[in-house]
Amino acid sequence: MIIAIDGPAASGKSTTAKKVAEKLSFTHLDTGAMYRAVTLFFLDNKTVLSDPDQIQYAVNLIRLKFLKDQILLMNDVDVSAEIRTGRVTEFVSEVSALQQVREKMVYLQREIAKFQDVVVEGRDIGTHVFPDAKFKFFIVADVEERARRRYDELKNKFGDINFNDVLLDLKGRDKKDASRKISPLKKAEDAIVIDTTSLTIDEQVDEIIDIINNKIHNRS
Ligand code: C5P
Repeated sequence: MIIAIDGPAASGKSTTAKKVAEKLSFTHLDTGAMYRAVTLFFLDNKTVLSDPDQIQYAVNLIRLKFLKDQILLMNDVDVSAEIRTGRVTEFVSEVSALQQVREKMVYLQREIAKFQDVVVEGRDIGTHVFPDAKFKFFIVADVEERARRRYDELKNKFGDINFNDVLLDLKGRDKKDASRKISPLKKAEDAIVIDTTSLTIDEQVDEIIDIINNKIHNRS
């Protein structure tokens, strides 16, 4: 079974997806982490984003593997912390807009979900990667609230952070992600919208689990 959770940056997708997966004993797949890893590879290897040959060469060299607890290995190196740094966040929307990058990531995502139950979070999961997902959720929240959450998270991790920088990053990424040509951030027509602006994480998780249980119950 596939449960798709899409939505803009810092809407609470990751924490919610992780907890929903835990409750249902499903695998949690964070597709944003995959695009972040590709971005890190491109930055480290100075891949020129306007050169399709360089992009294809780089994409072919990237091997990704998730271990438990959201540890992500790229070519056997743990990149879980580095993919969250500002330099990766700054460029990830540009890299994730590239067709060759998306093709490879979508292929990998479909492979990972072939033989297991998954909660997949991202931007295009319900619209493009798994249009037939059994459940689709689209998580939204006010941008100021999202920025406050992301600010708190980054401050704990990296210390010296400016709230306005975080707010601008979110607005900028949402705009780029929603306006790109290939698989933009968009609610699937049949997705259920969850507004988390005034919800705690536990409330978000409970709402999703209730919807899943009710739907399964009503159908049987
Ligand atoms: O979810 P997260 O904020 O970590 O995602 C980082 C970036 O990866 C997004 O801003 C977006 O550009 C890209 N992304 C994407 N498609 C997905 C997941 C993430 O384009 N399915």
